[in-house]
Amino acid sequence: MKATFRFGIHPDDKKDRTKDLVAERLLPDEKVYIPLSQHIGAPCEPVVEKGDKVRAGDMVGKAKGFVSANVFSSVSGVVEGIVQRECVSGQKIDHIAIVNDGKYEEKNMPVLTNPTSQEIIDRVREAGIVGMGGACFPTHVKLSPNKPIKYLIINGAECEPYITADYRLMMEQGKELVEGILLLKKALQAEYVYLGIEDNKPLAIEEMKKHSEDLIKVVPLKTKYPQGGEKQIIYALTRLQVPRCQLPMDVGCVVDNVGTAFAVYQAVKRGKPCYERYMTISGGAVKNPKNYIVRTGMPYEDIIKRHEVTDYIKAVCGGPMMGLSLPNLNAVVTKGTSSLLLLTKEEIRETQPSACINCSRCHMVCPMNLMPMMIDGYMKKNDLEKAEEYDPISCIECGSCAYVCPARIPLVQSIRLAKKLIKERGSKQS
Ligand code: SF4
Ligand code: SF4
Repeated sequence: MKATFRFGIHPDDKKDRTKDLVAERLLPDEKVYIPLSQHIGAPCEPVVEKGDKVRAGDMVGKAKGFVSANVFSSVSGVVEGIVQRECVSGQKIDHIAIVNDGKYEEKNMPVLTNPTSQEIIDRVREAGIVGMGGACFPTHVKLSPNKPIKYLIINGAECEPYITADYRLMMEQGKELVEGILLLKKALQAEYVYLGIEDNKPLAIEEMKKHSEDLIKVVPLKTKYPQGGEKQIIYALTRLQVPRCQLPMDVGCVVDNVGTAFAVYQAVKRGKPCYERYMTISGGAVKNPKNYIVRTGMPYEDIIKRHEVTDYIKAVCGGPMMGLSLPNLNAVVTKGTSSLLLLTKEEIRETQPSACINCSRCHMVCPMNLMPMMIDGYMKKNDLEKAEEYDPISCIECGSCAYVCPARIPLVQSIRLAKKLIKERGSKQS
């Protein structure tokens, strides 16, 4: 029986258009904008000024506090200044504008040949590595748990439709990826390391098994959404359940994405800070979808200019299930950007909701075993107390419930609102 979790859904994976396309290097236009916040935690402090010359790999923003991650220039050129630009949420944040000289001169850190566990953690922190699967949680924090770690879980599931960035990474950089995974294992002093890959990627499973040489257990996962959810992949691979409001480390696990492991390889073995990543451009409105190795700070509008695009009604950063719908294409590539999708009318589900018919489908697919219809129902009645009884805080916002709802009720929006209000109330009381 294939490793998996309970419940979930089976959306069309829509990966066929890009899965066999080798990632191309996509170099930025005349200017990049490096966001000072590309991570969960405090924004960085700028460490450059207008007129400063920089190389790719020069630090331009220094982490403020433990849960924060340094940011780096992705090009060589001259700093134009600090500007405010919209990020993917539409919120304006500070970016370092850099005029690209097109030379791509690099500043690397010294290569570490046989680093200790602490040296790996220090390098990960210096290189500004965050969760490249999109969570953007600073990786050095994850590598400093206050509990012993038995299992390192590497997430190669890539369960969101359309995206083939992790797939291409596994196909093209298998050997380097294995080195990065083993560095993470050493940093955590974990006993076991599992790499989970959905079984709709048989060539990647084969490729990674070839490079792993039994040092890493490569496990095919049943293709099912949200197989790449942290709690879901832990359960699929170890049968351990992370209790409500607890973290993977509480059951002796750390989960890292394949992109993160590759960034660790680059930082330790190549001395390269985190300013480049694999990314997919796809969606029905993109005539020539592609996989790219792209640099941070490149505006989405500059990427789209290089594509033939038809009418689209929704631009999404990340996957169609959990990604963020973009108000415009002003945002730039960050460390956590796995894809940019331009979706047509035919690819978007009807959003005009009707009344709940109590069919329970939303409950039957929920990987967290929640009752979304009850949370939504009580939120509509402005009864937060009752909604809370149905545990919205445990929702991982995977969108499976809304996907199957025949009444097209935007269940995730209701649940998000409930979570926000519960958290706000908690912080007011504390
Ligand atoms: S309630 Fe949350 S966890 Fe459950 S299916 Fe809906 S979005 Fe996913
Ligand atoms: S799936 Fe939709 S219609 Fe069915 S119970 Fe859930 S909210 Fe109601």
